Amino acid sequence: MRGSIKLFDIFGISIRVHFTFFLLPLIFGHFYGLRGVFLILFVFGCVTLHELCHSLQAKHFGVKVDQIVLLPIGGVAAMKSIPEKPGEEFKISVAGPLFNIIFALVFFLPAYFFLGPENLFHPGIDTWPKTLAYAFWINPALALFNLLPAFPMDGGRILRSFLARKIDYGKATRIAVGFGHAFAVLFGFVGLISVPPNLILIIIAFFIFVAASSEGMRVDLRLTLRKFTVKDVLPEQFFSVSSSMPLSEVLALTLHSHQEDFPVVEEGRLLGLLTRADIILTIHQSGMQKLVKDVMKKHFPSVRINDPLIKAHKLMEERQIKAVPVLDKTGIAGIVSLEDISRVYLLMSNRK
Ligand SMILES: [Zn+2]
Repeated sequence: MRGSIKLFDIFGISIRVHFTFFLLPLIFGHFYGLRGVFLILFVFGCVTLHELCHSLQAKHFGVKVDQIVLLPIGGVAAMKSIPEKPGEEFKISVAGPLFNIIFALVFFLPAYFFLGPENLFHPGIDTWPKTLAYAFWINPALALFNLLPAFPMDGGRILRSFLARKIDYGKATRIAVGFGHAFAVLFGFVGLISVPPNLILIIIAFFIFVAASSEGMRVDLRLTLRKFTVKDVLPEQFFSVSSSMPLSEVLALTLHSHQEDFPVVEEGRLLGLLTRADIILTIHQSGMQKLVKDVMKKHFPSVRINDPLIKAHKLMEERQIKAVPVLDKTGIAGIVSLEDISRVYLLMSNRK
């Protein structure tokens, strides 16, 4: 993630913090001194372990997890895609809150005896025992919050995994998204009518609403694309370029066609992929006389003409490109772009 720095690697996962995160210890240190800084670091330690539990369970099911990024609003584990099998989604989602619950159970008695009920049940930040009590309650609070049955919280995924055993995945997702929206509206409402208005609650409400919608859209896109193959949307005509062509000629081609990314072909063989982003960047930096072979990507994905369309979309997402070359038995059959995919999605989506 942009603007984040790596702290360390663990189990092959990079733990990173976003630079905005450092504002929090500063703010809390300013207002509450050392105990404030301790609490913030403790919260984020727990959040990291929570995300790590999700990630390890996901890795167990073969999901690639590259990094966990800590933001001021919490942690995000960057997983490639969460499995649709209800059992697997359930186990991955429950692993995080389960860590917080186990932590709370294990430390309840020690906290009770060492801090005493007068501190444990009256957490605060004015003395160290009260601060430790505060730290103790963070884990039950994280578990409760994350188990709310609403996207994008873990509870939303758990809810979907239960529903998906009985009804189809798309419908199960729509219900869980609906719960997400309902909670967001409720939080927003409570935040607004509080005196004074609770800004943090309003921000959380907004975040939940947007995240729930985007999960709904992502699933709908996936289910829609699954009904098509690459062949169904592949434009009949396409242009390819040769590796010795100067960019000025490619630019002319771009302006006269609707095509923005080009397969680089030589004697019927696919040598590279020339993307619009690379063309624009090179023209700005070094002018139009550069040759295609100096600019083209040499490592790029491709799909077969009968592959499911979702595969092309996934590759584009993973590699952050907007088109992939398409191959058939005889060689290059064309190039499929994100635009071709959005066109079929807009026509065929179930969303009203
Ligand atoms: Zn979680």
